[in-house]
Amino acid sequence: MTTLLQVRQVTRRFGGITAVSDVSFDMFQGEVLGLMGANGAGKTTLFSMIAGNVAPSSGQILFEGKAVPARPDQASRLGIARTFQIVRPFPGMTVLENCMVGALYGSGRERDLNQARRICEGILEEVGLSAQMFKAAATLTLAGRKRLEIARALSTHPRLLLLDEVLAGLNASEVDEALALIEEIRQRHSLSIIIIEHVMKVLMRMSHRIVVLHEGKKLMEGTPSQVGSDPRVIKAYLGEK
Ligand code: ATP
Repeated sequence: MTTLLQVRQVTRRFGGITAVSDVSFDMFQGEVLGLMGANGAGKTTLFSMIAGNVAPSSGQILFEGKAVPARPDQASRLGIARTFQIVRPFPGMTVLENCMVGALYGSGRERDLNQARRICEGILEEVGLSAQMFKAAATLTLAGRKRLEIARALSTHPRLLLLDEVLAGLNASEVDEALALIEEIRQRHSLSIIIIEHVMKVLMRMSHRIVVLHEGKKLMEGTPSQVGSDPRVIKAYLGEK
C-alpha cells in the first residue's frame, strides 16, 4: 500500500480554543477514510488544514511526501480538492460556468476556456447535471447543488477528494444516488477520499477505515467494525451504553 497523506502531530488553535490537538494518522492511496466525531470535534478544521485553507499551529501534513502549503490554490495544484459543508455556488452563473471556474483556476494547469468547457461538460454529465448545464446555479435543488460542488472539485483534477457532509439534508433515495455517484467517480478518477458524515450508518458503509476525533484529539482509528464496537466510541460519540 502506498502512503498518500501523512498527518503528523497536527494542532490548530483559534485564540484560546484548541480545535485540533496533536492528531496523527496516515492514509493510503485508493482509500476511503471516514472522519467521525460529534459537533465541534475538529473535523472541518482538520479538512481545512489538509486542503490548505487553514495553517496548522504546529505539526505537519504531507501529501505524497510534500508538505501541504497553507494556501488552497497550492494545495489544489498538489492534487487536493475539497467540498464545503455549506454549498454556495455563484448563484447568477450557470451550472457550467460554476464548474469552469474550478477547471480554469483550481488545477494550476494551463487551460483555455474551450478546454475548461469540454472538461466540465464531461464532468457534469458524470454527476448527472448535463440537462441543467445552462441553468443558473440558483435554480438547482440542494441535491443538485451538492452534485455541482462535487463537479467543481473534480474539475481541478484531484487525487485526494475531501467530502464535507455532501449527504447532509438529502432524502433517502438522494443519499443512495449520491453514494453510488461517489463510488463511481472514485473508481473512474482513481481517487482517494476522506469523508465527513454525521450519519454513522452511511459513514460505516462508505469507509474502508475511520478516524474518530473527540474534542480535537484522535480517539481511535480502525475499520468500521472495530470503530463501531469500541466502547470509547460508543460512549463518546453515540452517547449510550
Ligand atoms: P461540526 O460537526 O459541527 O461541523 P467539527 O467537528 O467540524 O464540527 P470544527 O468546525 O472543526 O468541528 O470546530 C472545532 C472547534 O473549533 C469548535 O469549538 C469551533 O467552535 C472551533 N473553531 C473552528 N473554526 C474556528 C474559527 N475560525 N475561529 C474560532 N474557533 C473556531
